[in-house]
Amino acid sequence: MGGGSTDIKLIDEKGIRLDGRRVDQLRPIKIEAGVLKNADGSAYVEWGKNKVLAAVYGPREAHPRHIQDPTRAVVDVIYNMCSFSVEERVRPGPGRRSVEISKVIADAFRNVIFTEQFPRAKIDVYIEILQANAGTRCAGVVAASVALADAGVPMMDLVPACAAGKANNQLILDLGKEEDNVGQADLPTAIVPKTGEIVLLQMDGHLTQDEFDRALQMSMNACMQIYELQKDALRRRYATSANDAPDTEEVRQ
Ligand code: ADP
Repeated sequence: MGGGSTDIKLIDEKGIRLDGRRVDQLRPIKIEAGVLKNADGSAYVEWGKNKVLAAVYGPREAHPRHIQDPTRAVVDVIYNMCSFSVEERVRPGPGRRSVEISKVIADAFRNVIFTEQFPRAKIDVYIEILQANAGTRCAGVVAASVALADAGVPMMDLVPACAAGKANNQLILDLGKEEDNVGQADLPTAIVPKTGEIVLLQMDGHLTQDEFDRALQMSMNACMQIYELQKDALRRRYATSANDAPDTEEVRQ
């Protein structure tokens, strides 16, 4: 959020944004499940110009033992921006921003994973931002959620996420980089579609109560579209495994 300048024109008279989208339109999203061989579960998400990889390990015995919880699994998330993910090289290592994002994403997943089924275990979720263009925490949640399902981690539901916000005094869905830089508000949201529960909600900038309600509704509606894409990615992954079956048979002969 760049201080909420309304001088820079981000939306034209016809309601079209710099990248050609309508105010309530998502950037194109592609999701692929099971892209990494060595992780227990994985997913790759392209969302506009964002490129995000998520990998999951576990549930496996938590080490060292003093971090174990005898009642449930420990869920750890590491969100990391690769050095080459933005135009100016990102300093490697966890900065304040990535520590915060890792924490809010871990809190979101602790609400949906049936952690009590795995006492003394640990589930590690790695989110690598290969290319960033605003909205990476939402893309990270979307990717991590598919990766967790791919790993077979029992969860209440998949977790779609999306941001809505405000620029040029209008509410907009899924802010791009320029909109994030000079817009007036950004409201990343992640939900559990089955229950309607909000598991991640942050806000940068300013909105009136009415704008907040409408922006939240916009992002929740978009989450339901993204939810379909997540399920579709898992269905495709499953279909691929089924098609692999004849090869397995051939090897056996
Ligand atoms: P999100 O990516 O979830 O929207 P932010 O609002 O903090 O999170 O960041 C918005 C965008 O700003 C990022 O997607 C990325 O394009 C850019 N950005 C974030 N951190 C850096 C950084 N250290 N250097 C350059 N650009 C960055």
